[in-house]
Amino acid sequence: MTSRHEFSAGLHRRRDAAHRLPPLDCGHRDPWTCRHHDRPSTRGVTEAAEHLLAIGLPPLFDAATCRALWPADRGLAAILARLSGAA
Ligand SMILES: [Zn+2]
Repeated sequence: MTSRHEFSAGLHRRRDAAHRLPPLDCGHRDPWTCRHHDRPSTRGVTEAAEHLLAIGLPPLFDAATCRALWPADRGLAAILARLSGAA
């Protein structure tokens, strides 16, 4: 069983180790606590959707892709979810 002191000491060791690492592209140093890389890049989804719409084809993406796009472009995410039947 880990005592509170041992747990706290482990967190401090992890924080100290993270500060010895070069920062990630997002500025965080600890990949364990960084959430910037959990979601797929939405730029490619946006470009693909805009291209398909421009040539008259419906862009159909799965629900996870539509959810990933939501924070960046809610309007497009709602359109894609409706077209894909995910909404
Ligand atoms: Zn980050």
